[in-house]
Amino acid sequence: MIIGHKKNIYFLQKSIDNNKLSHAYLFYGPAHLGKTTIAMDFLFKILCEQGGKCGKCVHCQQLEKNIHLDVYFINKEENKKNITIEQIRILQEKIIKRSFYGSYKIILINQADDLSVEASNCLLKSLEEPNPKTIFILISENIKSLPETIISRTQILKFLPVSTEEIVNYFEKQFNLETKQGFELAKISTNKPGIAITFFQNKNLLNKYKKQIQEFINFLQKNLNEKFQFIEKILPTKNEFLENVKILQNILSQLDLIIRDLILIKNFLPTFIVHSFLKNELEKLAKKYNENQLIQILKTIKKSKKYLFVNANPKLVFENLILEI
Ligand SMILES: [Zn+2]
Repeated sequence: MIIGHKKNIYFLQKSIDNNKLSHAYLFYGPAHLGKTTIAMDFLFKILCEQGGKCGKCVHCQQLEKNIHLDVYFINKEENKKNITIEQIRILQEKIIKRSFYGSYKIILINQADDLSVEASNCLLKSLEEPNPKTIFILISENIKSLPETIISRTQILKFLPVSTEEIVNYFEKQFNLETKQGFELAKISTNKPGIAITFFQNKNLLNKYKKQIQEFINFLQKNLNEKFQFIEKILPTKNEFLENVKILQNILSQLDLIIRDLILIKNFLPTFIVHSFLKNELEKLAKKYNENQLIQILKTIKKSKKYLFVNANPKLVFENLILEI
């Protein structure tokens, strides 16, 4: 079952019903919203002989086993930095041949942001001169990393976080979950269904996450010296550069959410905080800052993310941030 995104689902269904399928789609938006799930559902609807997941036709059966002969999945290969031009070339050789079932050939490119420059240039040819009855679906978390030439040749569908109500309703219907618990899952997942479901299914992971947030709150209460000591602990020098970049990206996202919670508390809106399980601790921490300071910290977090994006040293970036928090 898909949670939310009714407008996009309606749009895709209409393009099937009106026989107006585009030769290329771009689904973009943050991770864990359900873009791939909706793309897969779209595949079923296009190919299934009954127009949905009938489960009986050859298309459904092969799609379910991930072995449909007219469907191609392009993912970044393990240990590779990008989706390579070779992968795109091999794909292009395959798709110029006749469709196996005389129906559509569909190519799903997961994390299209990972296309190398050469690979996107090569892909561009297929988008500029599309083969008949061939559909590309590109999935992207960061549309800015895609060349304008690619974007302009696709039908763009933007994905946003799902409403709290839709997430609460889903858990209520599917698992008989009480509204309060559904609400907490919606908040803690920042309205991303993929995360909400993972936390619901994996309590260990949820507890680990909660513990991490608790640690950050403790960290924010330490003095400058102690904070600096903490850097070596979480960003060890022995780690590889990219490993520390990833860790810090994660820290920045969590810190961002904590600071936003503090701002909500300052504005007497505690019902809307993400980390309601730590409401008391957050209320205590909020007293340490005034609102302007918190807004300033958010700006610094944003800047730090940008620095990381252009390969700045994660330790230096974090040190800089610590001076402000
Ligand atoms: Zn079917």
